[in-house]
Amino acid sequence: MKERYYISFNEGKDTLPKILQIFKEYGREKLLEGNYPSKIFFRHFYILATDPFLKILENVFKENNWELNKRLEREYSNKELMQCKLLALRLNIAPKGMGGPQSGTKFDISNACKICGTAALQISNLMLRPSDIPKNRDITQTYDFNILISKKLKEKFLKLNLKNVELIPVISSKDRKELGYYQILPKVNLPPFSESTKGIEIFNQCKICKRDGFYDSPEYPPELHYNNFDESFLNKANIFFTYEYFGNSELKEPFKHSILAVPKCIVSPKILELFSDLKIKGLHFEPVIVNGFPDLNKWKVNKNE
Ligand SMILES: [Zn+2]
Repeated sequence: MKERYYISFNEGKDTLPKILQIFKEYGREKLLEGNYPSKIFFRHFYILATDPFLKILENVFKENNWELNKRLEREYSNKELMQCKLLALRLNIAPKGMGGPQSGTKFDISNACKICGTAALQISNLMLRPSDIPKNRDITQTYDFNILISKKLKEKFLKLNLKNVELIPVISSKDRKELGYYQILPKVNLPPFSESTKGIEIFNQCKICKRDGFYDSPEYPPELHYNNFDESFLNKANIFFTYEYFGNSELKEPFKHSILAVPKCIVSPKILELFSDLKIKGLHFEPVIVNGFPDLNKWKVNKNE
């Protein structure tokens, strides 16, 4: 596992030359190479977490009261990811379309939070506009993080004999015809994550259900921890939803104007294996820490490569 930081700053016209001077003093101008228009004072770059220049830069920014934005990113080898018991799946693919109540998709709110509607159960096919379906992609997502797969990929999924996961045809909100894509809909939610979880923030959460309002931190990769976890639970399904819902839910009258937060998709390594075999691009997997495994500190590469 390699850790690197995405760094950016925008201290304005007068300060930028001073900052550039520091990069020059340390012979690190190359980090900032790029084509910036003359009136743009924003700069950004990647640096390995083990690079000593990072500490130097942080100290100089702190002393001068300049603002340095920092986001940690982790890169894993497939071998590392395959050892994990669960993986959080994220699509690095621009979302298209809204699949929630506003699209006409039906939900049962009888077991959902009475105040905000979180944990409403989807009870119809996902409805989207035909123009929301991308061409020539095997996997895609909507703005509300519904994951959709092509027919070809669906056939491969079926061969895996997945447990407790439905692959439901996406239909057109115009004429209800099938659009040739399938929504991955897990039927089992994991238990709540443990307090040692990192990289998740809570904002404007519903005070009644405390189940929505979760967000990925802009600075730290999501690191979900499940401690005291009964591992026989892993046999229940190959793709799970989290207990927690991301985004903020809001019940409105009429219901079709409501907004519903969505859980994260957590998959078994079997799913990673399928995606890797098929060389599907645009996917990112983060290890989920189950009963302390894996210990990410042991995976850190301490060399400056
Ligand atoms: Zn609620």
